[in-house]
Amino acid sequence: MQTDFSPAQLADKDMAASEAVIRKCVHCGFCTATCPTYVLLGDELDSPRGRIYLIKDMLENERVPGPDVVKHIDRCLSCLACMTTCPSGVNYMHLVDHARAYIEARYRRPLAERALRAVVAEILPKPARLRAALQLARLARPLAPLLESVKPLRPAAAMLNLAPPHLPPQAALNAAATPGPRGRVVLLQGCAEPVLRPEIREASVRLLARCGYQVSFAQGEACCGALTHHMGKEDAALQSVRRNVDAWTREIERGLEAIVITASGCGTMVKEYGFMLRGDPAYAAKAAKVSALAKDISEVLEAAGLPARAGVPALTVAYHSACSLQHGQKITAAPQALLRAAGFTVRMPAESHLCCGSAGTYNIFQPEIAAQLGNRKAENLSRLKPDVVAAGNIGCAVQLGRHMASPVVHTVELLDWATGGPVPAALKARVAG
Ligand code: SF4
Ligand code: SF4
Repeated sequence: MQTDFSPAQLADKDMAASEAVIRKCVHCGFCTATCPTYVLLGDELDSPRGRIYLIKDMLENERVPGPDVVKHIDRCLSCLACMTTCPSGVNYMHLVDHARAYIEARYRRPLAERALRAVVAEILPKPARLRAALQLARLARPLAPLLESVKPLRPAAAMLNLAPPHLPPQAALNAAATPGPRGRVVLLQGCAEPVLRPEIREASVRLLARCGYQVSFAQGEACCGALTHHMGKEDAALQSVRRNVDAWTREIERGLEAIVITASGCGTMVKEYGFMLRGDPAYAAKAAKVSALAKDISEVLEAAGLPARAGVPALTVAYHSACSLQHGQKITAAPQALLRAAGFTVRMPAESHLCCGSAGTYNIFQPEIAAQLGNRKAENLSRLKPDVVAAGNIGCAVQLGRHMASPVVHTVELLDWATGGPVPAALKARVAG
């Protein structure tokens, strides 16, 4: 695609990066076929190609974006299916991330939207606040139908509806401190995952220890920054990113094999730290090192090999490939291969490339599209008649759990069980029966 940015504009590193992305696009439109919003809405402006045109026009002319442009960019899930499909190697992720930050800096959203976005950005990345907010949301849930009837307040209703009926007790932070033959890894503690499903971290620690790793938690770590980054709140995101780079650099100096991540949305983000801090002389090299050491847990387990199997029932597992894992990190085979090696029958749903609609805060801010995608994904998974659904991302697990009756667990919970760990909590009733 031809561009017309001025030399002064291209002196800005983010503009220069976006211009390089836009120039790579050859307008072929292959990406439209796999874009969930284009599949649902059929509007070119809700396709990757259409959004690239909108972003090009906005950036090139340094326009203050209007509500129409913002609507189409907001509807993007950042699922990155377009990047998997694109034959020209267009890095849509960098482009849309820049566009979101540009919009946040220049567009004044309506008051209710601004207030809700500020609340979400303050609460979700902090586990103690999230836990308190979820408890309050459970009490306020009867208000959800009322909020739903007022269009600008629908995201607030979606937030109330997302609160689970019960919260698990606060789990203590138990690392596997014994030195292992494979060296030491740090396990990202995360923000939503330990509040909603602490059993994922417990299973991960047991499994990594069984594979021969010493598992530590880094002091001073914060949320990975993805939630605020995807809202265009760059200052808040970069504050978290720098804090984590500092925390993990201290761990790297003590000797570290990997930074292990169980939520693939966080993994995709941490693998971007090097790019995000490339222009910061104090952090660029350290951030690049952190990104190089960041691994999804399935990558680490694949390299280590699964420990000896214990006897578990031969269940059929419907594997849900999280977008951030399959499109963001290009990890598709490892989780399925590990599940098969553990003795499970693994089946893939139709349209496995399509997003489930979770997408970070998307199911709060775009509840209608998120619900359509959630139902569509649940139908495709249910057709497999699975005993259990496995996913490598907490957001997907929560979203799928709202739309289908089958138990939904993290892949590591099944792998831990199959190699000597306890039955996953979500499967206890089914297995005992
Ligand atoms: S990231 Fe997903 S929703 Fe956004 S344009 Fe690409 S395919 Fe479509
Ligand atoms: S597939 Fe790639 S090159 Fe083709 S229109 Fe989409 S982003 Fe552009």
